[in-house]
Amino acid sequence: EPEFSGDFGTLMGWADQVRRLGVRANAETPTDAKVARGFGAQGIGLARTEHMFFDPERIIHMREMILASDEQARRVALDKLLPYQRQDFSQLLSIMEGLPVTIRLLDPPLHEFLPDQPADIENVAKALGVSAEDIIRRSKDLHEFNPMLGHRGCRLAITYPEIYEMQTRAIFEAAADLVKSGHTIYPEVMIPLVADREELTRLKALVVKTADAVLAEQGVELSYHVGTMIELPRAALQAGEIAKDAEFFSFGTNDLTQTTYGLSRDDAGRFLQIYREKGVMQFDPFVTIDQAGVGELVKIGTERGRAERPGLKVGICGEHGGDPASIHFCHDTGLDYVSCSPYRVPIARLAAAQAALGGDVKTNA
Ligand code: PEP
Ligand code: MG
Repeated sequence: EPEFSGDFGTLMGWADQVRRLGVRANAETPTDAKVARGFGAQGIGLARTEHMFFDPERIIHMREMILASDEQARRVALDKLLPYQRQDFSQLLSIMEGLPVTIRLLDPPLHEFLPDQPADIENVAKALGVSAEDIIRRSKDLHEFNPMLGHRGCRLAITYPEIYEMQTRAIFEAAADLVKSGHTIYPEVMIPLVADREELTRLKALVVKTADAVLAEQGVELSYHVGTMIELPRAALQAGEIAKDAEFFSFGTNDLTQTTYGLSRDDAGRFLQIYREKGVMQFDPFVTIDQAGVGELVKIGTERGRAERPGLKVGICGEHGGDPASIHFCHDTGLDYVSCSPYRVPIARLAAAQAALGGDVKTNA
């Protein structure tokens, strides 16, 4: 707990007194969550769940799930993943006791879970009781030319709702245990890559139904929220409709930048270097919010969301959440909090204070 001592501790204390923006962290491991808390994070704004499945023991079952031929077989694989997820969420919620924890349901580029090594293909085939050729054929059927713009995020859950059902069950089984042992916890469930209200309507209904069933089974009362990421231009434009279902928004400015510019977040560095040399564009929009484009969409999304649902809680959890100029922009736009990598939390606290004091941070506006 309060981490900094001496003059720096005093300075951070002053920063916290004047800032209006909340500062949370992006964290998905117990270590990151502890570091974040030590640096003064006021909760987790984004716990990504994709990487939780890369452990060798777990990825086997994830592959079984993705390559299963029917819902029954998918559920068998998901049941094996449930205890792992329960433990993941229990750890994050207890480390962040008393503070909100936003758990983002699965958002993988699907290809990351497909087996390509012969031994892995054999293992999945054996687990599913099919031939290696079947697995190779099913993997080919799932191939996408552009996975980052493909079958990921909520789209995956519209196709296979049982994935989010398992994750929701894990969150609320973990939560129920913690409540029973006297912990105060604030889980928030976040749906990624929503473009249309109907996606959120369906998936929120699934989350609420599952969460309420678990809480009833466990005889526990707990309030929780279900919200969405706004990370596609269409979601920002449709924010009024989406806010009818969303209890909070979190801007995913990594994907929002990628889709606003039509520029791959994984390849952008190369182009931006050439652009810088040629003097076409001097800043990196994946680091600092581009106020003329992405920032405009953040403003539109916030305004339209709050027009529909006054007081809607709005945050940002892309990499920009740890960038001082972007934090200044988030303050000016009236966001409630920024969420950034654990080691940037102190910088974010200072930048939020500087913004509140009206300090001038150079931006690309
Ligand atoms: C984002 O897109 O900004 C985001 C936070 O999600 P991810 O980086 O996991 O796609
Ligand atoms: Mg994203």
